[in-house]
Amino acid sequence: MHHDHYLRASGLTKQFGDERVVEDASFTVEEGKTLALLGPSGCGKTTLLRLLTGLEAADAGTISLAGDTLTGPGVHVPAEQRRVGMVFQDWALFPHLTVDKNVAYGLRAEDIARGRAAEALELVGLSNLGARYPSELSGGQAQRVAVARALAPRPRVLLLDEPFSNLDTEFRVKLRSEVATLMREVGMTAVFVTHDQEEAFVVGDEVAVMRSGRIIQQGTPTEVYERPASAWLAGFVGEANLVSGLGAGDVADTIFGSIPLATPTSGPCRLAVRPEHLHIGTGGGGRVTGVEFYGHDTAYSVEFEATSVQVRAMAAPRFRPGDDVSVSYAGPKVVAFSSMQPELVGIEAG
Ligand code: ATP
Repeated sequence: MHHDHYLRASGLTKQFGDERVVEDASFTVEEGKTLALLGPSGCGKTTLLRLLTGLEAADAGTISLAGDTLTGPGVHVPAEQRRVGMVFQDWALFPHLTVDKNVAYGLRAEDIARGRAAEALELVGLSNLGARYPSELSGGQAQRVAVARALAPRPRVLLLDEPFSNLDTEFRVKLRSEVATLMREVGMTAVFVTHDQEEAFVVGDEVAVMRSGRIIQQGTPTEVYERPASAWLAGFVGEANLVSGLGAGDVADTIFGSIPLATPTSGPCRLAVRPEHLHIGTGGGGRVTGVEFYGHDTAYSVEFEATSVQVRAMAAPRFRPGDDVSVSYAGPKVVAFSSMQPELVGIEAG
C-alpha cells in the first residue's frame, strides 16, 4: 500500500509548566528515508522524539505512521503498540551476553522462534559473529550489532537521539556514514536527532531544522543550504555573510556587485552569502585583515568600510593582511530576506 507520507507529524505542541517546549511542529518522512532533525541544544528535539515514541503525550497535534493515527484528538496509542524503535546516545551492548543474545534481548519468545534476531544480524552482515562476546568485536562491529538489536523487533520507524555524541571525532565520522549506508541498505525509515550540521547533512536524506520548539524548515540538505528560510538558519547550517542589498527584480545590488536572486525582490533586503561563493581578486575597495590557511582551502577576512566579510578560496593563500582586494560573487541564486523582518523567533536556550 502506498502512503502519501509514511510518517507525518502535524502541529505538535508540548508544554511543561508554562514553557512551550515543542510548538506547532510539523514534518514528514517518506518510507525508507532518514530525516535529520537538526537544532541547537535545548530546542526541544528530544521532547519531539518522545512525542513520536508515545512516551510523552502531546497537548495538540497529530502523528500518523503508515496510515495509522498514533496521536490525535482523543487518540494516544501507547508506546508499546506503536512499533517505533528508539536508539539512545548509549549504544552499549550487554558485555556478559553473546552477540546473538544481545540482538534477541527484548524480543518476544515467538519472534525469537521466528528467527527475527538472526535475520537482523544478517541484515547488518554479521551472521558469523553471533557467538562472540562484545569484548571480541571491533568498535564498528559493536555498532552494527547495536543497529541489529534496534532493527530486530521490526520497528516501522527508528528514532536515533544523538547516537554518536559520546564518540571521538574520527570514530564518529566513520560510523555516521556507515550507519547512514546501513539504514539505506535495509530501507529503514528513521528520524535522526543531532545538533551537528555536518552530521545532519551526511545522514539525512532530508533535514528538518528546529529552533525554539518549532520546525522552521524541512528540505534536502542542498535546499536548506542554498535556500535557507531565514538569515538565522543560513548561519546555523553553515557560514554566511549577512549583507545588505537593493533588490531590482532578479538581481540585488550589493558591495560585491550584482547578485542573482532566487525570488524577485525590490527595495532594501538582506542576503546570506556563502564565503565559498565569493571570489577574491587583486585591487579593489576591500582590505585583507586576516588569512587562515587550512590546507584544502584558505579563509580570508576582508574589510569593506563598515562591513567585514569572509571569503573561502580552494587554493593556498594568494593575499596577505593589508592587501587591497576586490570581492565578487560567483555562486547560485541567493534568497533575499526582508531587511525589516526581525530575526528573533524566540529566546534560545543553551
Ligand atoms: P539537547 O540537544 O540539549 O538534548 P533538546 O533539543 O533535545 O536538547 P529537550 O531535551 O527536548 O531539548 O528539552 C527542551 C526543553 O524542555 C529544555 O529547556 C528542557 O529543560 C525542557 N524539558 C524537557 N523535558 C522536560 C520535563 N519532563 N519537564 C520539564 N521541562 C522539560
